[in-house]
Amino acid sequence: MLDLIWINGEILHLSDARISVEDRGYQFADGVYEVIRLYGGKPFTLEPHLDRLIQSARGIEMNVPLEKPALTSEIRKIVAKSGVADGFVYLQLTRGVAPRNHVFPDNAKPTLLFYARPLPPPQLPGVGEGVKLMAVEDERWKRCWIKSIALLPNVLAKNKAVAAGADEAVFIDGGVVTECSASNIFAVIGGKVVTHPVGSKVLPGITRAVLLDCAATLGIEVDERGFVEEEAIRASELFITSTTREVSWVARWNDRYIGQARCGPVTLSLHKELRRRVTAETK
Ligand code: PMP
Repeated sequence: MLDLIWINGEILHLSDARISVEDRGYQFADGVYEVIRLYGGKPFTLEPHLDRLIQSARGIEMNVPLEKPALTSEIRKIVAKSGVADGFVYLQLTRGVAPRNHVFPDNAKPTLLFYARPLPPPQLPGVGEGVKLMAVEDERWKRCWIKSIALLPNVLAKNKAVAAGADEAVFIDGGVVTECSASNIFAVIGGKVVTHPVGSKVLPGITRAVLLDCAATLGIEVDERGFVEEEAIRASELFITSTTREVSWVARWNDRYIGQARCGPVTLSLHKELRRRVTAETK
């Protein structure tokens, strides 16, 4: 395996890559990013990730400097050259280098980079311990649909959760459950899968979208609505999703156990359907 990076059209060893201290990503968190899962060296749901990148870039008044077909082939190239089989691609786009000024520079060249890194294989459906969530106040901005590199509220929330012995922070916005610090959240209530709509407070998670499609395939009803903390605690099942974790069942919410304190049947069947799709797309 090689630690390579694609940066502004060049492929270098990761340790040789240089970013200016005047890059606006560094000084203002003026940028967006993507994380794409690799299975056996093949990216899963690459196209929706690139579509979301384009949307995020538009959300901060930027364009992605490469067209989708070129970006797709460059990503595939770096993955192949790096030799990463199971892992992820981290991609970051910033507004580029300019003397420090809040005002957008007239002609800065965006900084685009991506590299592949290995990850342990995700847990099989239903296997392993459930996740412990800690509820924290959602103090983020109202453009959570933008996958912004400005992640400090998420970082602080996650660290608060981990310091308290939990695994992930779940955001509560005026009593309503929105999403987690790095994942989307779903409750099974009365046999239906309930999840907050995407938008101002929820990232349009790619895994979330695949899961909702899995639910349609399996004939599981979905209700996209906000739900309150009390409903979450009383749900028969809770689970969270993300590109790197796929689906994780939730065992605890603060000090309360959820459902039967094991992976529930709806979570299990949705995760199995997701795995089936991963295999179909990346085999
Ligand atoms: N919400 C937030 C805040 C996240 O950071 C992530 C992970 N990037 C997700 C949801 C899940 O999104 P995805 O399934 O696209 O990884």
